[in-house]
Amino acid sequence: MKATSFLMFSVVWLMLIGLSYYYQAEDDKKFGQKIAYKQAEMFFQHIVLMRKWNSEHGGVYVPITERTQPNPYLKTPARDIITSEGQKLTLINPALMTRQLAEMERGDSGIRFHITSLEPIRPDNQADDWEITALQAFNQGQKTYQEVSDIGGQRFYRYMGPLILEEPCMKCHDAPGNKVGDIRGGISVSIPSATIDDIIFLRLQWLRQSHLLISAIGLMALLLAYWAQVRLSKRLTKARSHLQLAYLDALTLLPNRRYYDAFVRREWKRATRHHYPLSMVMIDIDFFKAYNDNLGHVEGDQCLRQVARTLRHYFRRSGDLIARYGGEEFCVVAACDSMQIMQLAEILRMAVEGMKLPHPDSKISQYVTISLGVATLIPRENVEFGDLLLHADRALYDAKHSGRNRVEKYQGQAAE
Ligand code: GH3
Ligand code: MG
Ligand code: MG
Repeated sequence: MKATSFLMFSVVWLMLIGLSYYYQAEDDKKFGQKIAYKQAEMFFQHIVLMRKWNSEHGGVYVPITERTQPNPYLKTPARDIITSEGQKLTLINPALMTRQLAEMERGDSGIRFHITSLEPIRPDNQADDWEITALQAFNQGQKTYQEVSDIGGQRFYRYMGPLILEEPCMKCHDAPGNKVGDIRGGISVSIPSATIDDIIFLRLQWLRQSHLLISAIGLMALLLAYWAQVRLSKRLTKARSHLQLAYLDALTLLPNRRYYDAFVRREWKRATRHHYPLSMVMIDIDFFKAYNDNLGHVEGDQCLRQVARTLRHYFRRSGDLIARYGGEEFCVVAACDSMQIMQLAEILRMAVEGMKLPHPDSKISQYVTISLGVATLIPRENVEFGDLLLHADRALYDAKHSGRNRVEKYQGQAAE
């Protein structure tokens, strides 16, 4: 994994975590709202149940107190009564009961509910704007109405349900035009958003922390993977360079004989498959023993390095190779025909001679020179790559015996 890949994976990972957080947070917010509305709905149903109980009894009598005064909008003859003990009682109908419960609840929990109608009998029961919209929606056939809305600058989850005239209600509401099933108004239940928002906030806090932890663990894992990968690739590079050393000649830094052999075998197979000629050149420095004897081994090594550097210059193609074959001998293999290899061999010979490296003990030149034996074969059955080597060696022998500092081609039957 490269550093850029690591960065890319990290970004993708963080994006995934971010997405997960976003969707879960949104889901939690929606879930919190659902709970708020459900709570409001249950509140509403509870009040409707209490109202039903009240209306089934045609209202209930309670003692008149400072808080519970007779209902001026209740037109019942026996609204206020005095018991045989002399206690004054007044009739509480469902509407007044709802108002009184609402006042109590608002004081205790902050939850508000409000009995209202588009045409309220009691002016205090006037609907606010939101309630008017809800009541109009009921008249259009909507069953319930819910929304987040502000009351006096405070946010509330608001729910409203309709009040439907039922049989017991008709005792008091049997005015002309009223019938069972009519919508008489509604009760709105408003839950302060703070109560739910606190729970959502805690949940989001937990969600944030857990996502931060997961993203940190993921990043750590990625970092570890990256680190392990860097270490591994370092080891691989090291192993590769060791491997290279095993195939490299330490003195000239040319491929060594082992590499050359493997290369020739591979090229031989390829040439056999595709029926193209393979050429070889054996190169040997002339009178090198004398060079060593005269100038010493250190100079001899230096000479070998310089010759190698000059020769290497002509081998750039992947199908061609020059290697140190051993001692002061070099070997070339190239995927080309006889004419091309002869040209190349002559170029190599001239290049070494052109270096003008003084050779005090050469019998043929004042400079270091090489002799070259060239052979070419088109691989086919019953011909082995060892034959090519033999032919090149034979040609080199001829070059040596016909005067050195020259290129000789193998003259046997198999030559192309
Ligand atoms: P010819 O022209 O027939 O090739 O004669 P030559 O003297 O070059 O051939 P010979 O085989 O007699 O001598 C090869 C010499 O190469 C022997 C050895 O001293 C020298 N030699 C081989 N390997 C190395 C090496 O790695 N470093 C040095 N300095 N000399 C080497
Ligand atoms: Mg030799
Ligand atoms: Mg030699």
